[in-house]
Amino acid sequence: MPELPEVESLAVFLRAHATGHTVARADAASFSVLKTFDPPLASLAGQVISGVGRHGKFLDISTDQGLHLIIHLARAGWLRWREDLPSTPPKPGKSPLTFRLALDDGSGFDLTEQGTHKRLAVYLVHDPADVPGVATLGPDPLAADFTADTLASLLFGRKMQIKGVLRDQRIIAGIGNAYSDEVLHAAKMSPFKIAASLTPDDVAVLFDAIKGTLTEAVERSAGLAAADLKGEKKSGLRVHGRAGQACPACGDTIREVSFADSALQYCPTCQTNGKPLADRRLSRLLK
Ligand SMILES: [Zn+2]
Repeated sequence: MPELPEVESLAVFLRAHATGHTVARADAASFSVLKTFDPPLASLAGQVISGVGRHGKFLDISTDQGLHLIIHLARAGWLRWREDLPSTPPKPGKSPLTFRLALDDGSGFDLTEQGTHKRLAVYLVHDPADVPGVATLGPDPLAADFTADTLASLLFGRKMQIKGVLRDQRIIAGIGNAYSDEVLHAAKMSPFKIAASLTPDDVAVLFDAIKGTLTEAVERSAGLAAADLKGEKKSGLRVHGRAGQACPACGDTIREVSFADSALQYCPTCQTNGKPLADRRLSRLLK
């Protein structure tokens, strides 16, 4: 799933390639991808792209006439830039292609989504805050005004495991399952630690890990074409998706435990004093 660093890089890429161009047409290839109906998608044609931004994991393509095309790639969605976009609109069907935006010079992009759970979402709105998932976003961890004090206030009194806090978009915007694993590994912190129990020193370490991990990931993918971002994300991860491999920091074996609707990966030596975390779902089944 694309998270803050990949969406940021896509925004930078689109800003360089699409800004100043007029939209030739925009087409949804599936009934479910477009979440808004007013203004209609057809109204985008003829408008000039004036900027590309990001809200958490949402891309925001704005036009000279004040419209915002907001894109959430969800778990299995991706954006594919094409210098020569096929001139025919996409056809509804079983193809992973769900949306196509064509520009005046023949370039543009396709949005694709693999798998059967179609959750990629596109919104056309006058104000990004009209998108429910954007309106409820917490602060952006890469914003200049996101300080250690900001983080401390977000964690204060919160009786939630820190892993859950980090990937909750309403608390902090843009971090998902992969980068929360990476941040906690960099902070040498147990994913099950309760947010409210963090000392000021813990908060300072976690703050540095958040800024450092995300900034590094953004820098690694800067300048890469949209097509290369996915591979770059995978190769840059230290623990996420690497259960059974050696921890790059200490050599211990990276472990995996279920968490919420998926799994998390961590290093016992670096993060949990060498003790493997109990798989709560498994132990519940065994009772
Ligand atoms: Zn380790």
